[in-house]
Amino acid sequence: MAAPRYHLQFRPYRRPFRQPLHTRHGIWTVREGIILCLTDADGRPAWGEIAPVPAFGSETLAQAWQLCQALPAVLTWADLQQIPLPACRFGFLSAWEQLTTSVSSVGPLPVSSVLLPTGAAALEAPQIFTPQPQSTFKWKIGVAPIQDEMAIFEELISLLPADARLRLDANGSLTWQQACQWLQLCDGYGVELLEQPLPPDQVSLMLKLRQRYSTELALDESVTTVAQLQHCYHQGWRGVFVLKAAIAGSPMELRNFCQTHNLDVIWSSVFETGVARRYIQDFLVRALPEAKRVLGFGTSHWFNDGWEQLSPEQLWERL
Ligand SMILES: [Mg+2]
Repeated sequence: MAAPRYHLQFRPYRRPFRQPLHTRHGIWTVREGIILCLTDADGRPAWGEIAPVPAFGSETLAQAWQLCQALPAVLTWADLQQIPLPACRFGFLSAWEQLTTSVSSVGPLPVSSVLLPTGAAALEAPQIFTPQPQSTFKWKIGVAPIQDEMAIFEELISLLPADARLRLDANGSLTWQQACQWLQLCDGYGVELLEQPLPPDQVSLMLKLRQRYSTELALDESVTTVAQLQHCYHQGWRGVFVLKAAIAGSPMELRNFCQTHNLDVIWSSVFETGVARRYIQDFLVRALPEAKRVLGFGTSHWFNDGWEQLSPEQLWERL
């Protein structure tokens, strides 16, 4: 019997942020990516999304576009398995899995943490004054001088509702000494966790840091791909893993590894559209029902294009 064949189409997208996002990697103003559509021999379509984040080590959009253009218009499973770039790999394999496996979508995900603007702008974010019960907020640090950020942090804590939780994300920007200063402060306030305090390659230092303070640590930039995730796990990391599935490579490998080792995970956004989001919720998040951390998908308020309400098919038609 001939191997199944899938017809490929792909289109670029561009979404300006409502306000630029400041991180230590720089200022991000527009989210760009690619939506692809695989159609099987019966004419059934499934959509996938390529949403690279080069600052996290994934391919660039230009590389992803080049890869898509170089592929034949009709693909087999063998072709799909050989796609090397991690965000592309996710996009193609997620579309393929949706074509070949049916899961029932059971509505939207539970609440996510809310990403606040960086710096003092967080103190004016409408979400902190109209919170849902037991909200989780996330705030980026490591962008301005540490004393300035600590002063804003204390003010932010005083504004947050008593039942709110706070996550800090340093995006790998701190020195050992600064990380200790932050963790000491965090311990006093019961901060939920500090994400990626040290640069991605300093995992053994973060293992040490994790033993010194009660605030939990999460790896993010250190575990961008499935291979890095496996490496850090085998180095002994048992803290939190922030998983950005859209840039991790094969979603099946990612799911298998998480299930096998029962990891403490936070599923997290790379500002992907609903195309990748729906797949992640139905095929990954719901496959690990015991994961207890609040999700990191609270980013829809960063856009005002109404795309969040569109089905994959509707979005495809607009591109
Ligand atoms: Mg992070």
